[in-house]
Amino acid sequence: MPGCTEHAGYRAPKDRTQLRQYFWFCLGHVRQYNARWDFYKGMSAGQIEAQLRADVSWQRPSWKLGTRGGQQFDEEEVLDPLDILSSTRARRAQAAKQRHQQARESVPPALRDHLQALALDWPVTVDTLKARYKELARKHHPDANAGDLSAEERFKTVSVAYSAIRAHLTNL
Ligand SMILES: [Zn+2]
Repeated sequence: MPGCTEHAGYRAPKDRTQLRQYFWFCLGHVRQYNARWDFYKGMSAGQIEAQLRADVSWQRPSWKLGTRGGQQFDEEEVLDPLDILSSTRARRAQAAKQRHQQARESVPPALRDHLQALALDWPVTVDTLKARYKELARKHHPDANAGDLSAEERFKTVSVAYSAIRAHLTNL
């Protein structure tokens, strides 16, 4: 990468028609290059280089080197960016989908009615729960519905549901 003084220990194919020819980058720049792989599809090596040059001039990398979302950087992905990146991503997406599906099917029976009262899907986070509770409690609060007994009932139902789900989440 023009102007970069880091050790260029990571390679990436120049483009889809030149998979055996490589650019050599430092860790930060190979990640930048890999992240934009699709974006460069169809561009010539010269166009890619020009684009990368422009990026270096106008943008700074937004990630911290060696980290990604607080997790340890997966070195495997850098050493073989094309194949492993795509297959690992697909596997991870599939696994996440499965976990979500399983969670959805495993609604604790005691919480079903309470979730319905708050119009929430399982699984739910404490933050989502709190936000929904605040919204509904404000709407149905007796002070805001003077003399309306059905509002008072709804307020109670919402409060009980919130307490039950919250207790369940914080005891997990
Ligand atoms: Zn670099």
